[in-house]
Amino acid sequence: MNLVLYNDLSREKEKFVPLNEGRVTFYSCGPTVYDFFHIGNARPFIVFDVLRRYMEHIGYKVTFVQNFTDIDDKMIGRANAEGITVAELAERFIAEYRKDACALGIHDPSVAPRATDNMIEIIDTIKKIIEKGHAYEVKTSGENGDVYFDVRSWPSYGKLAKQSLEELESGARVDVGEIKRDPLDFALWKAEKPGEPSWDSPWGKGRPGWHIECSAMSSKYLGETIDIHSGGVDLIFPHHENEIAQSEAATGKPFVRTWLHNGFLLIDKEKMSKSLGNFMTARAALEKYPPLAIRLFMLSAHYRSPINFAPDGLEQSVGGVKRLRNCWGDLQNARQNQSARQNQKTATDKDASEFIRELHALDARFYEAMNDDFNTAGAIGAVFEVVKLINIQIRQSCLPSAFFDEAEAALRKFDAILGVIGIDDESANEKSKEVKDEESEIERLIEERAAARKSKNFERSDEIRASLLSLGIVLEDTPQGTKWKREL
Ligand code: AMP
Ligand code: ZN
Repeated sequence: MNLVLYNDLSREKEKFVPLNEGRVTFYSCGPTVYDFFHIGNARPFIVFDVLRRYMEHIGYKVTFVQNFTDIDDKMIGRANAEGITVAELAERFIAEYRKDACALGIHDPSVAPRATDNMIEIIDTIKKIIEKGHAYEVKTSGENGDVYFDVRSWPSYGKLAKQSLEELESGARVDVGEIKRDPLDFALWKAEKPGEPSWDSPWGKGRPGWHIECSAMSSKYLGETIDIHSGGVDLIFPHHENEIAQSEAATGKPFVRTWLHNGFLLIDKEKMSKSLGNFMTARAALEKYPPLAIRLFMLSAHYRSPINFAPDGLEQSVGGVKRLRNCWGDLQNARQNQSARQNQKTATDKDASEFIRELHALDARFYEAMNDDFNTAGAIGAVFEVVKLINIQIRQSCLPSAFFDEAEAALRKFDAILGVIGIDDESANEKSKEVKDEESEIERLIEERAAARKSKNFERSDEIRASLLSLGIVLEDTPQGTKWKREL
């Protein structure tokens, strides 16, 4: 297997070699469940799910963990504003996450742990870091205390962000109520405050800081050293830098072998984010665009490049999905027509070897792109070339069954990995309302053209043919009536 991935730790493309042959341990930072997720958040959820599917396709047994952050400042703020508990808020938005993720065709992770279900492991990890001398407790009030990671005690801090302590120090901040020794230090445990949920710990009542949950859950479900850890590029610092420091301080072992980060989804050239208010929820996007088109849009760019969420790009993806689905539909129709003809013993078997040779060359291009740092954009380019090739063949009247077998297998495989054709998706298999409306309009115009020809109104009949042609619809008059097909 020749998969090469760009590792943000080395800043180089590296041949991917898992720690244990044939198995991949993969952790991806999941959503903070205080609200609906936006379409920018959907980018890592979609792309890393596809990477996991691809790895499974090429033969790895992948354990894929994506967590739910169900306790943090945002969770507490929103729950208090709504007058509900943090647990109720989490329950609600985990359910909403699952609805949208399912609608977007994102597969369930192998494990989707919640921070609050892993308090024992979180507390244990913090204890280990204190024992190794890399964290300290500061009493806040009475029995309760905060625990901070002592950044200056950890010489390799900054190795992922590629920043020195001096550079990091200039951007460091001390939040209200924090009593740490150094502005660079970050909270592992926060003492209880009025109106906040809390758990018992060796440092009194309190709750974990954000970063520690991923260190604790990653090692619980995947082991102390894992193959891949991913998330959006905004997580490099401080979240992932802190995860490395915590995990490596606790275990003394390398935490992650390959770090992957997706680029931002932008809107008007700015990062889409809740705090900027420039976001569209995935729910709203799904009302506007078909899920397959959203997936095609996300996968049509390299995962590390920024992408601009703009109507033009999405409309292009809507058209792209139509082409893919039409190709699959036409292939099914052609196969049915073919077997009907074969029943009448009119067909002769032709050689499919030339088609198969070209198909295999494009298939190789698909793998080449996927193996080259998971270049889904290039892979999708190869998929559309396959569609073009199939569409050319389908125009022929006699087709060998090997053609259908190979063409169907190729499209099925692309769909299983990328999820942009929707072959086995019952609802996606139904033609969309848009396609149905378009087809009935074409039929109506064909009837109007036949009537115009009958009454010798050739001006109108030519006009109809020309207007359909401008939409890529070609009419063919046959003794059995007028047939139509889509131009390539
Ligand atoms: P959050 O729920 O804020 O922790 O974010 C969940 C995931 O979405 C993280 O991996 C973030 O890095 C990622 N993310 C947030 N905003 C964007 C964006 N505009 N484009 C791409 N990824 C994003
Ligand atoms: Zn995380």
